[in-house]
Parts: sequence; C-alpha cells; structure tokens
Amino acid sequence: MNTKTQQAISNYINSKKELSFDGIDRSKVYNSVIAFIEKGGNPRTYTEEIMQFTGYEYDLCNDILLNSLKKYQAITTKEKMIAAGILAFEWSDSGDKRVCSYCSQRNGKVYFFSDNPVFPGELEGCRCIAYALDEFELADYLNKSI
Ligand SMILES: [Zn+2]
Repeated sequence: MNTKTQQAISNYINSKKELSFDGIDRSKVYNSVIAFIEKGGNPRTYTEEIMQFTGYEYDLCNDILLNSLKKYQAITTKEKMIAAGILAFEWSDSGDKRVCSYCSQRNGKVYFFSDNPVFPGELEGCRCIAYALDEFELADYLNKSI
C-alpha cells in the first residue's frame, strides 16, 4: 500500500467523531484496518478486534472496516486507470433505492481525471462504480457533446 493510500485511510479514521474520545487508541483501529486490507481474511475477526479497541457495537465497527476497504479500492482503481492512460470515466450508481441524490445526479455522467473529480467510492458509504472510457467511447462522447 502506498503512502497516499495510507494517508487517506488514516484521514478517514481520524475524521470519525466516534473515535475521537480519550481512551480510544485510533492507531490500533488503523492497524486493524490496514491488516484487513493487506492480508484479507474474515472481516468479522477484524471487526471484533475494533470492537475491543473502541468498545463500540458490531455494526459501527464493521462500517469503519468496510468503508476503509471501499476507500482503498476507490483510490487504487483510480490510480490504475490513470496509470493505464484512461482520461475519463462514467459514473454509475447502484440503481437501487439506497442511492443518495449526490450520486444519482452523477449517474451516467462523464468526468475527466484532469478536472480532479470526486471518484465513485471515495465518499463515505458510496457504492458507485466508475467505468473507464476507452479511446473509442471517449471519442463518441466528445462527438455527441459538440
Ligand atoms: Zn455513490
């Protein structure tokens, strides 16, 4: 895992109000999250570890774990696309009733990495996906938008 990704996960954990109390060692939570992402395994095991470190109930600890994973996946996917020379992606929401208005407004729209857009999955709880546009799809899109 690169430094940028570690920083993003660390920022996420530090942003959780529930973890900002004295007596909660956020570095332990961080280490559990990183171990889960790097080694994999049963999320329940890591969730229970986080429960021990924080004293919080299962659902909250599981959210912290899985949201961290989603954030990691979003950052990694974005980096892979950029490294592969992809210039733009199409936002795709989950198409169900749980999609928030922020995401549904973005559904089907095309975003260019050069504009440094929010990437699907970066925001907490976001289940959206980015479809990379290949050069033909991009040319198609540009032709239509003229
Ligand atoms: Zn979303």
